[in-house]
Amino acid sequence: MLWLALGPFHAMENQVLVIRIKIPNSGAVDWTVHSGPQLLFRDVLDVIGQVLPEATTTAFEYEDEDGDRITVRSDEEMKAMLSYYYSTVMEQQVNGQLIEPLQIFPRACKPPGERNIHGLKVNTRAGPSQHDSPVVSDSRPSNSLKKSSAELRKILANGQMNEQDIRYRDTLGHGNGGTVYKAYHVPSGKILAVKVILLDITLELQKQIMSELEILYKCDSSYIIGFYGAFFVENRISICTEFMDGGSLDVYRKIPEHVLGRIAIAVVKGLTYLWSLKILHRDVKPSNMLVNTRGQVKLCDFGVSTQLVNSIAKTYVGTNAYMAPERISGEQYGIHSDVWSLGISFMEIQKNQGSLMPLQLLQCIVDEDSPVLPVGEFSEPFVHFITQCMRKQPKERPAPEDLMGHPFIMQFNDGNATVVSMWVCRALEERRSQQGPP
Ligand code: ATP
Ligand code: MG
Repeated sequence: MLWLALGPFHAMENQVLVIRIKIPNSGAVDWTVHSGPQLLFRDVLDVIGQVLPEATTTAFEYEDEDGDRITVRSDEEMKAMLSYYYSTVMEQQVNGQLIEPLQIFPRACKPPGERNIHGLKVNTRAGPSQHDSPVVSDSRPSNSLKKSSAELRKILANGQMNEQDIRYRDTLGHGNGGTVYKAYHVPSGKILAVKVILLDITLELQKQIMSELEILYKCDSSYIIGFYGAFFVENRISICTEFMDGGSLDVYRKIPEHVLGRIAIAVVKGLTYLWSLKILHRDVKPSNMLVNTRGQVKLCDFGVSTQLVNSIAKTYVGTNAYMAPERISGEQYGIHSDVWSLGISFMEIQKNQGSLMPLQLLQCIVDEDSPVLPVGEFSEPFVHFITQCMRKQPKERPAPEDLMGHPFIMQFNDGNATVVSMWVCRALEERRSQQGPP
C-alpha cells in the first residue's frame, strides 16, 4: 500500500475524514471533511458553533485508546489528535476493520436545545473557506468494532495470551537476546509488540520465569510499557507488550533540548516508579526508551525476572556500553548504577555517535575520568545533569528524589506531551519521505 510508505498525513490528504461531533446527552452529528490534514482548530470550533449554536465552545476532547479524554485547544494539539487518529485508522485498515469516524466531544457547552436531539439532518452555513462545507448528517449509533478499554484490559491482562491468537507482522528490530515483532492480537483487535527469545532451558526454569514475570501485571505507570502476557512455545518465550509507534530513541538523531527535557522527565519518572517497587531496571539505554505519536515515553526491558536475565546472559554477550563502572568491575549493582546508565544514554543520544564506545574505552571509564559533554554545545543544566549522573563514585550520583529536583528536569516538568508528540510525528514523516515509495 503506497500510503503506508508515505505516511498517514500524505496518504489521508485525498481521503475523506469524518468527524463525529458528540452532542452532550443527545447523540452525535457527523461532519465530512475532504482535507483533514489541513484542518485547523478554529475550523472545528466554527462547525461546533453551528451544531451547538447556543453554547460557547472553547475546546473539545477526543478519546485515546484507553478511553481517557485528551483536550484540544490549539493547532498543535489538533495535529497531535489527527496524527493519533490516522495511526488508529492505519491499524483498522491493516486489520480489515471498519474505519471509525474521529469522535470529538465539545467542551464547556450548554445543552444543545432542540436541534439535534433526534439526530435529524441539519443544514449548516458554509464551512471555513479552505475546506468543504460541513455536511451534517444524522448519526447512527456506531457499530463499533472497537472494544471498551475495560474489555480490552480484561482480554489482554488475564494471562491468556497464546500463539494461536497472534499474527506476526513486521520485524521491529533485533536485540542481543531476541527479535521484536509488530503483531496483531486477533481477539482484542489490538496491535502489540512481541519479543521472541530463544531459550534452551528446562520446564522448571520456564515456570520460574513465568512466575517472575507476574509482577509486570502489577506495573501500572504511564512511563512503563504495558505488559499483556507471555507464553512459552517449545524453546522460545514470547513477551507481549504495548506497541509504541515511534520506536526507540536509538534511531533518532540529536534531539532538541526542549524535547529531550520532556523525554528525560518521563524516563526519570519511569525509573522512580520501578525503584519504588524495588525493581532495578538493569538495562537502561536508548533502545529501551520508547516513544509514540501521542507524545508518551515509556521504559521497556527492565530486569524483573532474574532467571530470564540469567538465561539470556548464558547464550548472549552480557556487557554493554551503558553499564556503570562498578558493574563492569563486578561490584554490587544498585539504583546508582541505573542512574549512570541514564546519564550515559542521554549523552549518547545527544552525541549521536551510533555505536558508543569500544570496550577498551569502557575500561578507561573504570580506571579514569568519566567523559564530559562540551559546554557551549549543550545547555549548562543538561551538561550538569549528565555529569552528576556519571560520577565515578556511585554514592555521589543523584538519588531518585534529587534526579526529579534537578534544574534540567524541573524546567521541563510541565506535562506537555504535545512537544514530544509533534517531534515524533515530524521525525516519522521525515523518515518515511526519505525511504520513498516501496
Ligand atoms: P537488547 O537485546 O540488548 O535489549 P535492544 O533493546 O536493541 O537490545 P530489543 O529489546 O530486542 O533489542 O528490541 C529491538 C528493537 O525493537 C528496539 O530497538 C526497538 O526499536 C523495537 N521495539 C522493542 N519494543 C518495542 C515496542 N514495544 N514498540 C515498538 N518498538 C519496539
Ligand atoms: Mg530492548
